[in-house]
Amino acid sequence: MTNLSETHILVIEDEPDLRAGLQHNLELEGFKVMTSADGRDGLRKAKDGQASLILLDLMLPGMPGLEVLRHLRETGREIPVIIISAKGQDRDKVQGLELGADDYLTKPFGLSELLARIRAVLRRTQTGARAGVGEKPQVAVVMRFPDLVVDWKRFSIVRDGTETQLSRYEAEILRMLIDHRGEVVSRQDLLRKVWGYVHLPTTRTVDNHIARLRKKLEHDVEKPVHVVTVHGLGYRFESVLIEES
Ligand code: CA
Repeated sequence: MTNLSETHILVIEDEPDLRAGLQHNLELEGFKVMTSADGRDGLRKAKDGQASLILLDLMLPGMPGLEVLRHLRETGREIPVIIISAKGQDRDKVQGLELGADDYLTKPFGLSELLARIRAVLRRTQTGARAGVGEKPQVAVVMRFPDLVVDWKRFSIVRDGTETQLSRYEAEILRMLIDHRGEVVSRQDLLRKVWGYVHLPTTRTVDNHIARLRKKLEHDVEKPVHVVTVHGLGYRFESVLIEES
């Protein structure tokens, strides 16, 4: 289990009472808490790299929350982010998740719900995620398929002699497909296991990430040979494992 005293949470929230309340309650739970009341300042603190998780408001002075998230992900920072926002619209939710947020809470929310989400995200990103979906304790580091090498330690793939970095979500999706290779994995299963989400309005998020993954994996994205679409059902990893080490 996570050692909470080493878990720093960065709260980026401009509403003073909520910010103070979150800090107080999270500290009572044993977390170390840093705060910021401004998007630009929050991004700077996030980039310092001390935080293990960020609670991110969307409507912020300085820089909107979604921009903060976009900058973080563009610079390769995979630090877990939970969006906390008064806006409950699906569009913000979907956009936030597509930009790489790990979860989304609509204000007002209770402390117990917040803590449950924080623990779930930390569990997913600190243990299960890095090792795939946690079904195989003994994980191969390198897997070779025809025309494709997946390196789980480096979070990268090699195709045609060129190494490409995978995002965390791409790696988790690929891991789940490869763990179930030869079987159909539904979009709902991917959403549930990779994002931990059950009430997302659409499965477009999954399709968008699969499209990005295919650009990295496939010679011809129109004729994928590794990750194929099974119409009406989901996706299937088809390549045969040649070697793993
Ligand atoms: Ca706000």
